[in-house]
Amino acid sequence: MIDANANTFPDLVELDALRLTVIVDNEVDFMTSVPKALGLTTQAQRLFTDKRNLDKEKSKGLTAEQAGSEARDTDSKDGAIRTIAFDFGDVCCGAHGLSILVTGIKGDIEHRMLFDTGPQPANFLENAKRLEIEFEKIEVIVLSHWHVDHSGGMMAAVDKIREARHGLSPVVVDLHPDRPDQRGVCLTKPGDGPPELAEYVAWGKDPSFEGLEKAGAKVAKNVLAHTICEGFFGVSGVIPRRTSYETGIPNHARWSDDNKTWSLEPEIMDERYVVARVKSKGIVVLTGCSHAGVTNVCQDAKMAFQQPQLHQYPDRQENNNELFFVVGGFHLAGGSVETRIKETVRDMQEINPLFMAPGHCSGWRAKAALEQAMPGRVISLGVGSDFFIAPEDSSSA
Ligand SMILES: [Zn+2]
Ligand SMILES: [Zn+2]
Repeated sequence: MIDANANTFPDLVELDALRLTVIVDNEVDFMTSVPKALGLTTQAQRLFTDKRNLDKEKSKGLTAEQAGSEARDTDSKDGAIRTIAFDFGDVCCGAHGLSILVTGIKGDIEHRMLFDTGPQPANFLENAKRLEIEFEKIEVIVLSHWHVDHSGGMMAAVDKIREARHGLSPVVVDLHPDRPDQRGVCLTKPGDGPPELAEYVAWGKDPSFEGLEKAGAKVAKNVLAHTICEGFFGVSGVIPRRTSYETGIPNHARWSDDNKTWSLEPEIMDERYVVARVKSKGIVVLTGCSHAGVTNVCQDAKMAFQQPQLHQYPDRQENNNELFFVVGGFHLAGGSVETRIKETVRDMQEINPLFMAPGHCSGWRAKAALEQAMPGRVISLGVGSDFFIAPEDSSSA
């Protein structure tokens, strides 16, 4: 029997190509090599080859003969060496959070959604500017879960999109309805003294439903799995907790404005993941923080595409239901969760996604352990990365 609340995406479209542009991540890494199948162009590569950065002065300054170089610019009439100025000030900056622009392509149709918005406006806006993000084309913002390192740039993003989309439909902000008044962590161990002396760290308030509507967004509250952008992308409902060891954040806490109290809340049940399906590649999973546990996320995404009723879709290819790429925060950094790395690696080997980009809160220990167990399949996420996932015969648009 199929659970009515199970995460399934029966109307998910098979895309010709998927582009992921990382606007915010903890890491800056445009140097580590990446498998060709992920179609990665780093921001540095784009800046290296951007003809707008052609340094006219330097190009004039030295001839190929003078430099004894083979790098003669065949376009240049005066024989000067073509030199592109690379300004490190143009490279995106890391921040503790996540934001990925997701572009789906099918035939002549493109749809864009923004997955999370990073921890604060300044970093989000500056990186978006450096990446030349076309705000007018963003139709939906999906928030993975109510944590400020994912929602902190949202009001700025909505403002930018509203200004850019004048005359077009308002941006839809897809949210879980259970918005906490505030979240944070408890610094005191349970049992260490009376509860009234416990100490908490508050992370600040997430944007409110009213504030978002006032800023010109259309709020869509969703508890169950659904698709957006004409079926280009799927947003999950609650992520079932199936493993024994993925038990959330032990000292995670939630503040209530009404009761003026903190209460422990290890599980973050409002978290959702996003999926897309790419022709002859498979399923791409975007996960914000994986507080549900990354193996729970991946196992559930895998199961969502093994539901028997999905086989009625004729465009589905037999080999196209496997996980191709898992991207986002795996939340395996920090003393209370690093103990789960061994079991996570074991289960991820079983689930067997072809590639993984553990970013944001994953931590280097988990990345190293995954790479050791699955060599060549783990990559850095990194701000400014632009993945173009498409069948081998497609070229980057
Ligand atoms: Zn989180
Ligand atoms: Zn996070």
